[in-house]
Amino acid sequence: MPINPRDPYDPNNIFAKILRGEIPCDKVYEDEWTLAFHDINPQAPLHLLVVPKGAYVSWDDFSEKASSEEIAGLIRAVGQVARENGLVDPGYRVLANIGQHGHQEVPHLHIHLFGGRQFGTMI
Ligand code: 5GP
Repeated sequence: MPINPRDPYDPNNIFAKILRGEIPCDKVYEDEWTLAFHDINPQAPLHLLVVPKGAYVSWDDFSEKASSEEIAGLIRAVGQVARENGLVDPGYRVLANIGQHGHQEVPHLHIHLFGGRQFGTMI
């Protein structure tokens, strides 16, 4: 069920549980601001998720309320994860789903990285 990005943060969402170590993930990267891991249902040969450690429902929530350090941390982590996983050449796709029209399902901001195949035109 797509979420409303203006809903209050639900601390029991699946990525909050992963961040607290209550359920496992296949981790590829972690730093002060972010955690990155493989998507459980990959849509490409390589499908990674990068999530901020702070409690943000969506890109909308994050861009409005996160500190400059948190925002820089997430953006830098996305680039770092892409480089470390060989995505830069031949290229990859970054995507964030937001709210109902974006079909966001997990109400904790996450950035998708897709790689390992040709993606064609935008949507
Ligand atoms: P959304 O539609 O919210 O942008 O995408 C949510 C993503 O989270 C989906 O691609 C889905 O496969 C992934 N996902 C959902 N539950 C889990 C989980 O427990 N572990 C991992 N690693 N990924 C999950």
